[in-house]
Amino acid sequence: MVEDRDVVIIGGGIAGMTAARELRDLDPLILESSERVGGRVWSKRRGDLALSVGAHMFPPPDSIIGRQVDEFGLEVLPITGSMLNIAMNDRIVAGARPEAFPLKLALSLRGRVAFARAGLKVRKAVAEHEAAVIRRPGDTEAMIRLRSMQAGGDISFGDYLGSLHPEAERIFQALCNRSSGDLDSITKASMATLFAHVWDSGDLGRNMRGGSGLLVDALGQDLAPHIRLQTAVTRIAVTASGVDVEYVGPDGAGTIHARTVVLAIPAPLIPALFGESLPADTASALARVTIGPTTVLSVLTDETEPMPWDDIYSLLTPDCRFNMFFNHSNAFHATGAPKQGSLLMIYGGGGRARALAGLTDAEKERAFLDDLHRLYPQTRGHIAETWLMPWQYAVPHATPGRWRVQETLDRGIADRVFLAGDWVGEFGAMETAAETGVDAAAAARRVLSADRA
Ligand SMILES: Cc1cc2nc3c(=O)[nH]c(=O)nc-3n(C[C@H](O)[C@H](O)[C@H](O)COP(=O)(O)OP(=O)(O)OC[C@H]3O[C@@H](n4cnc5c(N)ncnc54)[C@H](O)[C@@H]3O)c2cc1C
Repeated sequence: MVEDRDVVIIGGGIAGMTAARELRDLDPLILESSERVGGRVWSKRRGDLALSVGAHMFPPPDSIIGRQVDEFGLEVLPITGSMLNIAMNDRIVAGARPEAFPLKLALSLRGRVAFARAGLKVRKAVAEHEAAVIRRPGDTEAMIRLRSMQAGGDISFGDYLGSLHPEAERIFQALCNRSSGDLDSITKASMATLFAHVWDSGDLGRNMRGGSGLLVDALGQDLAPHIRLQTAVTRIAVTASGVDVEYVGPDGAGTIHARTVVLAIPAPLIPALFGESLPADTASALARVTIGPTTVLSVLTDETEPMPWDDIYSLLTPDCRFNMFFNHSNAFHATGAPKQGSLLMIYGGGGRARALAGLTDAEKERAFLDDLHRLYPQTRGHIAETWLMPWQYAVPHATPGRWRVQETLDRGIADRVFLAGDWVGEFGAMETAAETGVDAAAAARRVLSADRA
């Protein structure tokens, strides 16, 4: 039996669930392949803290995600620890202003000069990015997104910085790995966006009490009648009257005839669902989307005494096999509650994740823990629990020329299938995913209204 639906949403991450909430009056159906909703927002609660292998930093209250947090009565606390810190050549430089790093890091004279020079270039790139995203009369979100990707969107960050001293290169490589990219792949535009976000820590400067997973759990409960879990879409075919969506679920295979579809799964998974029927322009646009890998290790420690990382939220670690160290418990120490261990997250993106590819999960964990113990010997003997997640598709980043396919992605497929997900936007974050969910939902509604007129 073929089921009929106005809207089928494929993928139950933030993008898909946000789209579903926009279309609630049309009785949308979310098909989600895994046994849980939330995709790359995933945490397991441990008291006020949570082991987390995905998104952890929240945007301000005046955002789509901020309003969801508020609606579900969830609590986000401002990150109090410093965000701009670097551990290199056996020295941790914490809480310095960005321009002071070349002086404070343990670098050779040449490394210092090269890093300072490159820093000035980064400043210039961020200024260009900020000018590009200033709202102009008549702007839509899509127009701002496009300008943001375009300003420095045809050159890799590595080419923009030019030949670097090895010490400066190590620092910038680690920074590019933060977006699951590498110096020679990620654009100047993408990195300028990241720097703008990190320097303006107010933008993503909050953590959720009890873990980010509480948000996707709440969204999942809110949308429960509209969600089918463990239901993987296997084929999509656009027909004269709509879209046929084939799936395999707990009760076997089925087909839904949908008038519109919001497709909210990672871009690399889309072509296989359409096979030969994918329009050529969409196929080449999707091929320009890069979602890099990141291996994440979430670590719960059991100390009750103060530790040297207590005042740090994030630390760049160019000398480790992971490139980032986060202390998620930081916000909670500021509440004055007795210390209940720390919740650390370490991850290696881009080339760092690929370098681990031949290892077993246990070996990856061992490699990360060895480097963690080197970075902070105080963690030895205090590891209470760990959770490893080798994401194949972790965070999207633009490669040179990616902005040129933006309009094709924004248009969707055959006026019936609309694309949503952080990769449709220019910055891999929950808010981007939510924005694209809102846009895709609006496009689906326009088509349905026109069908009825
Ligand atoms: C390590 C890490 C740290 C991050 N940190 C932050 C942060 O601090 N702040 C922030 O804002 N963002 C952060 N992000 C990014 C954020 O997690 C993502 O931008 C966001 O969650 C993407 O949501 P999405 O809905 O676009 O995609 P996803 O979450 O990937 O959802 C896609 C869904 O589609 C499902 N699916 C796939 N194929 C099929 C199929 N064939 N049929 C049905 N369902 C299918 C998947 O199971 C998944 O649930 C981080 C990401 C990672 C990996």
